[in-house]
Amino acid sequence: MVKPLTESITLYNGVEIPKLGLGVFLMKDEEELVEAVKAAVEVGYRHFDTAKIYGNEEYLARGLKESGISREEIFLTSKVWNYDLGYEQTKIAFQETLDRLDTDYLDLYLIHWAAPKYAESWKALIELYEEGRVRAIGVSNFQIHHLEDLKNQELMQPMINQIETHPEFPQNELHEYMKENGIVHEAWGPLGQGKTDLFQQPVILGLADKYGKTPAQIILRWHLERGEVIIPKSVRASRIQENSEVFDFSLTSNEMELMATLNTGTRYGSDPDDQERLKQTSIRPEN
Ligand code: NAP
Repeated sequence: MVKPLTESITLYNGVEIPKLGLGVFLMKDEEELVEAVKAAVEVGYRHFDTAKIYGNEEYLARGLKESGISREEIFLTSKVWNYDLGYEQTKIAFQETLDRLDTDYLDLYLIHWAAPKYAESWKALIELYEEGRVRAIGVSNFQIHHLEDLKNQELMQPMINQIETHPEFPQNELHEYMKENGIVHEAWGPLGQGKTDLFQQPVILGLADKYGKTPAQIILRWHLERGEVIIPKSVRASRIQENSEVFDFSLTSNEMELMATLNTGTRYGSDPDDQERLKQTSIRPEN
C-alpha cells in the first residue's frame, strides 16, 4: 500500500480534515462502490464523503471493512437530509447514520441543505459535537445569508461549508466570506460533475500539457491552490488514482489568474435558495 494521502487543513476547532476525499454520490451499485472504496484506500485515500440521501452508507461501511483499514485512520463525513431537519429528528437521523456506517462516531456531520428548520438541526449538531459523538460539524449549500443567520442567533459557527465549486462556478464571494470567518471551503462537484466541457478548455489543456498532467488533475490542483477540500467522485480505479496525483505540482499565481477567466457563473446543481425544491424535499416519502 502507498503512503496515505493525509495532507490536511485544520478546522477552527483543531481537527484536521484530509484535503482529498472520495465522494460517493450516485454510487448506487453496492459491488461497484465497495470496489471503488477498496481501490481508493489502496492508493492512499483516507477520507470518504457520503450522505443519508445517497442510500449507500451501508455499502461504504462494507467497503471500508473489506479494505482492512481501521476506523481511526479514516475521516468519515455524512449529512442529514432535508426531511430529517428539526432538533429531535436530526438526532434520530444521526444515530441511524452511525448504525448504517457501523461506527460510534463521525468525523464530520453536515446539514445537507438550508431547508426549513435548519437552525433547530444546527442546535442538535452542536449538542452532538459537545457530547463528543462527532469530531466536527458543518453545513452544505449554505449561502452567506444562512451563515449570517446562524451568527445572528449567536450559535456556534459551522467549521466547514460544502458547496458546488468548479472553475466555471468558483463562488468567489462566498469563498471570501468563509475565509474571513474561518469556515473551510469544501468543494462538491469539483470536476463539474461531468456536466460540462471543462476538460476541453484550452486554458486547462495548455496547463495539462505544461505539467504533464490530465485536465482533471489541473482542475483539482486549482481547488487546492484556493485552499479548498476536494471530494471528486469516480467508480474507476484508474481515475481514483489519477485524482489523487495532485500533490506533486502547483500552479503559479499567473496560472490561477488564467484559470479565473473560466468563471461563467454557471451553477450545474440546485439553487440553494430554491424554496419550492427545499419545501418538496422536506416532505418525508411514505413507504
Ligand atoms: P464530480 O466529482 O465533480 O464529478 C464526478 C464525475 O466525473 C463522474 O461522472 C465521474 O465519472 C467523472 N470523473 C471523475 N474523475 C474523472 C477524471 N479523472 N477524468 C474524467 N472524468 C472523471 O461530481 P460529484 O460526484 O457530484 O461531486 C463529488 C462529491 O461531492 C460527491 O460524490 C458527493 O460526495 C459530494 N456532493 C455533495 C453535494 C451536496 O449537496 N453537498 C452535491 C453533489 C455532490 P466516473 O465515476 O465514471 O469515473
